[in-house]
Amino acid sequence: MPPKSWRPTAPLSQRANRLPENQKPDPKASTVRVIFLGGLGEIGRNCACIEIDGRILVLDCGIMFPDTDMPGVDLVLPDFTYLRDRADKVDGIVLTHGHEDHTGGLAYLLRDLRVPIYGSELTVGLARNRVDEAGLGHRTEFIAVNDGERRRIGPCDVEFIPVTHSVPNAFAIAFYTPQGVILHSGDFKLDLQPVDGRRTNLSRMGELANTEGVRLLLSDSTNAEEPGFTESESSVGVALRRVIGSQPGKRIIVACFASHMHRVQQIIDAAVANGRKVATLGRSMGKNVELGTRLGIISIPQGGLIDIEHVDSEPPGEMCVISTGSQGEPMSALSLIATGDNKWLRVGTGDVVIISAHPIPGNEWSVGRVIDDLYRRGAEVIHTGAEPVHVSGHARQGELRTLISVTQPECFVPVHGEYRHMVHHARLGLSMGIAASRVLLCEDGDAIKLDARGISRDGKVPAGYVYVDGTVGDIGHGVLRDRQKLAEEGVVMVVVTVDPKEGSLIEPPVIETRGWVHAPEAEALLEEASEVVGAAVTQALRDGSRDSEVLCRHARKALGKFVGDRTRRRPMIVPVVLMV
Ligand SMILES: [Zn+2]
Ligand SMILES: [Zn+2]
Repeated sequence: MPPKSWRPTAPLSQRANRLPENQKPDPKASTVRVIFLGGLGEIGRNCACIEIDGRILVLDCGIMFPDTDMPGVDLVLPDFTYLRDRADKVDGIVLTHGHEDHTGGLAYLLRDLRVPIYGSELTVGLARNRVDEAGLGHRTEFIAVNDGERRRIGPCDVEFIPVTHSVPNAFAIAFYTPQGVILHSGDFKLDLQPVDGRRTNLSRMGELANTEGVRLLLSDSTNAEEPGFTESESSVGVALRRVIGSQPGKRIIVACFASHMHRVQQIIDAAVANGRKVATLGRSMGKNVELGTRLGIISIPQGGLIDIEHVDSEPPGEMCVISTGSQGEPMSALSLIATGDNKWLRVGTGDVVIISAHPIPGNEWSVGRVIDDLYRRGAEVIHTGAEPVHVSGHARQGELRTLISVTQPECFVPVHGEYRHMVHHARLGLSMGIAASRVLLCEDGDAIKLDARGISRDGKVPAGYVYVDGTVGDIGHGVLRDRQKLAEEGVVMVVVTVDPKEGSLIEPPVIETRGWVHAPEAEALLEEASEVVGAAVTQALRDGSRDSEVLCRHARKALGKFVGDRTRRRPMIVPVVLMV
């Protein structure tokens, strides 16, 4: 049992100093560390370790979607080196909720780790889909936990506290460590009228603060720059009903995240209220509606769901298609509709597309292109710029302050956000009276230690981006740099054919280029380049060099200098020396 020593009585900033001697934690008690493997400094790759005397619990295991400057990269993972090196010390993985930025990395981590995974029934259901796809489902144990459940997992008790978010059945998680309670908010907002009536359990968190005390709060920073409170999810339902009702006779297509089951339910309700049937479009939408229906999260009236195959035989004014692709992802259902390549659905005049989502930073351009293409086909597009058809799943400043006020943490580390989000969140914490020495701004790879004195930094661990391309694991920074160089500057190749016996060139070097200069118009430049390389290699041969690596180096240097001097460009230089 953890010491019941953190009963907050004094103002936060003075509390640690004023606690009676017998209420201070045992200085000889175990060391508790938190190690951040991802999610601090970016939106995505959320993954942390709670480490008690060397035993580890993993908190979330997410991916990040690539930027436009990561050509060919499908997704980005946390660096799992720290966990791989300690695979026998990991006792389990606990999941706050089912979003990919918290669960998408499991399919990769589980290749090297065999540990049970805990989360709400829906969370483990969503996670299992991806783990099964990777062929690891048969050897992985998924354990569903209930709202409010407290159970021993590995080195400590863990309690799962309901929070509201943009996927149902999300948790904040409390870890009862020998150094007191660590509370992780998960992704959350304080929705007072959630669609399923399951509110963030603030009263439990307050009780925890008043009995055990919260020693360390880790809290979601995504919207820490935004003042006020995030609107309730149920407000979107009202807007959807009105917008759909204002388009009689037209076919409606609504795009949203497939995991946002409350949004999906509200789309269904708005459609049904307007005398429409629904169909799902996109593999994950179909799968998740099935999962949500099975778990009792989604309900569709009898006969209300029709197969997308039959969408054309229904009158447009009686149809509402719920689609994936709200982020403009290139191969998603909505993108394929926009380019006229979707197998099931063609849109034109008379169709209205509602985008019930906000682009994740980095996706604005893709979403904009999809909207343009839909307009080109004659469809009408309604998005958050025009109608309140979306609200965020993350807490704004008012809610973040409320959480700090309710939990009264002794120490505070903002998590889940870009750096500026965490800076703003840290300032909120300070303004709420948490002592400056007890607020730490951390980044990926930082380890922190919780002991009798409070919170302090405790070294760094590897936490770079791991790039995944296709089924290949890490493609490495070198490959990515090459791709960026090729994309930005092109490539110049030179083939030099050498007679090693004679120590001479058999023919003038042949220059080939892609993306450097337009070859026919730069014929003279290419000839000159060939001469420069020829001279450099000939000189090296005269100096006695016969090693193809060495000759390659001379060719690369001469060509690189020529290209740089003459065009002020730095394309990739690829020399090939053939000995014949
Ligand atoms: Zn989330
Ligand atoms: Zn998240």
